[in-house]
Amino acid sequence: MTGGILGQGRALTALRRAVESGRVPHAYLFVGPRGVGKYSTALEFAATLQCLDEAQRPCGVCRSCKLVAKGDHPDLFQPKRSGSKLTKNANAGSKETGFLGDIVPMLGYAPVLSAWKVVILDDAHQLTDTAANFLLKTLEEPPSRTIFILVTHAEHLLLDTVRSRCRRLRFAPLTKETLVGILTSRGVDEEQARAVAPLAEGSAGVALELLDGGQLELAALFDGLLAALKAGRAAEGQDPVTALFAAAGKGRTERQMVELLVDHLKKRISGAEPRIVARSLAKEQVGPRALLTLIDEADRNLKLNSNPRITADWLFRKLASGGTPWACLGVSDAGR
Ligand SMILES: [Zn+2]
Repeated sequence: MTGGILGQGRALTALRRAVESGRVPHAYLFVGPRGVGKYSTALEFAATLQCLDEAQRPCGVCRSCKLVAKGDHPDLFQPKRSGSKLTKNANAGSKETGFLGDIVPMLGYAPVLSAWKVVILDDAHQLTDTAANFLLKTLEEPPSRTIFILVTHAEHLLLDTVRSRCRRLRFAPLTKETLVGILTSRGVDEEQARAVAPLAEGSAGVALELLDGGQLELAALFDGLLAALKAGRAAEGQDPVTALFAAAGKGRTERQMVELLVDHLKKRISGAEPRIVARSLAKEQVGPRALLTLIDEADRNLKLNSNPRITADWLFRKLASGGTPWACLGVSDAGR
């Protein structure tokens, strides 16, 4: 079983071994950062346990596999998810015990189609106390032929008693290369994928959110600010820091905006053509290397938790103070 899940080799191997040995614990706890493939792995594991083809599981073509893929398998229980967004809510249901209260009575019966019933609870840490205690009671006397998979990025919020009844499986943050691979496989332009990967905290989910949040619009914003700085228009009208943070919105913090700006500058410099770099070196007082040192310093300050507003202001002042090789930053000479 891989199901196209990238960067989680250890977790997948552990699950494959459990299936092959025939000793699958009745409850798993999948822990790790958001957007690294925990839920996809839970679905893939369910498909593996429930597949009707004994030779290759999951086969992807049997009735069971197709129903898992459609989210319509009679032995697979998961709170409704709307689209790809994680809006499932295990607390919703006709009883105070939520989704679990509704489905646990059904778990007393034999599976309808497959060898196993599987219950997947995403964001298990969000269960209400009542639902969590009901889950505990259920795990203490597990229904037959049933595997529970609890998924969480905030393990510490789960009841210790629930945690101790599960086999814990750790999912690692994704490497930048894996992220780029995942993003490009989903149709994201490679250059964009490489630009967003360093900001994504090892999470494909975060990377997609960043892209969703308009990475291209951001690039245009940054380029506009740089052009204004170069033209000396910074003093008139809105100062660049205000302009930068005014565009934050979309759930981004000021710190993230400065981090994105710094990353944008780095990308521009590393992407500058050698010809342009050579011309800048001949013409400007500050070479690209000195510029990179400046940007690195801003980056370091951010990592040391400096105030993003002060860092942005400092960086803009340095850039505006003259000698900046604008051509290396992709700011054209047209305005001269
Ligand atoms: Zn199958």
